[in-house]
Amino acid sequence: MAPSAPWDRAPEPRCWAQWHAAAARPEIDQELRAFYADLDRAVAGGDAVCQASGQCCKFEQFGHRLYVTALEVAWFLKQVAAAPPGPPDAPEGGGYRLPQFAETCGACPYQISGRCSTHLIRPLGCRVFFCQAGTEAWQHQLYEQFTAQLRELHERHAIEYCYLDWIAGLSAASPSRLE
Ligand code: SF4
Repeated sequence: MAPSAPWDRAPEPRCWAQWHAAAARPEIDQELRAFYADLDRAVAGGDAVCQASGQCCKFEQFGHRLYVTALEVAWFLKQVAAAPPGPPDAPEGGGYRLPQFAETCGACPYQISGRCSTHLIRPLGCRVFFCQAGTEAWQHQLYEQFTAQLRELHERHAIEYCYLDWIAGLSAASPSRLE
């Protein structure tokens, strides 16, 4: 068996304290929200259209992997934990479900009934990926541009940059976030 790539190996749970602490800093929270808003504007300005098939979140079935940074995972879990109880589509603005890893079968644990239950707080990779043929070059350019901005945010705030698989990150970070 080939050795796993560094980004497939999630840091130990005890290492996540630094990213959880960073995600809790108001200035980091503010910058990440602005970063995702800028990204959404850039995506909206492109030609790609989401067919809402939900296929891309079924990683094994779709043959797709999602890579994120550990800071994104920590920030995402902070929003999940802080959300009010209730389903995401509740009229009063419900919360998010915690990951249900046992149910996922190779899919994102936040895809519920074929839809993203955490649309507003999803990471960069989810926002940029479209399965629409012919948009690959545009996606790649946008991904590179915003990944560079995310890396710069890490450097500016002296946060360790860790690039890893989404499921591996959630799995490693969740116990330390929920302790
Ligand atoms: S966070 Fe949402 S968009 Fe991203 S993989 Fe999970 S269900 Fe899909």
